Amino acid sequence: MKIRIRLFLIWIQRQLGILDTHTCPRRSEPGQFGHGIENEDYWYRRKKDRTCSYCGSMHPEDFNQVLLRVITDPACTIDISDKPYKIYINRPEVHNSDDGALKYYTQHGIVFWENEVIGGVDRRIHAAVTVSNERFKKILEKRHN
Ligand SMILES: [Zn+2]
Repeated sequence: MKIRIRLFLIWIQRQLGILDTHTCPRRSEPGQFGHGIENEDYWYRRKKDRTCSYCGSMHPEDFNQVLLRVITDPACTIDISDKPYKIYINRPEVHNSDDGALKYYTQHGIVFWENEVIGGVDRRIHAAVTVSNERFKKILEKRHN
């Protein structure tokens, strides 16, 4: 879609109040571009993912589904980047940012399951990273044998 048409549709959605706006927590960090501007960011769809208009992060609820998928689907993995708050998401159906979100910023928060404490979320992310790392190790071993 042409950028002007897309921006016009966003403007109409804002006027009608149907756009789910928020202030991206990354924008709120001192020194970031657009720091101090409130409620200008929104979640938009890239295929089935909701993506932050400011930072490109996947929506926390969608990321929660990714964590569940990593455990059961060998084709889906996550990697912690050199920045501890940035997590890369690898799925076979997502080749670039037009297909869906490629990353998750932990500043966007975490989704709690019922009766879950913070350690539970940490364990869930840790389990997903461990499974991903084991798969990557096996791929490397195959290449070198
Ligand atoms: Zn964001």
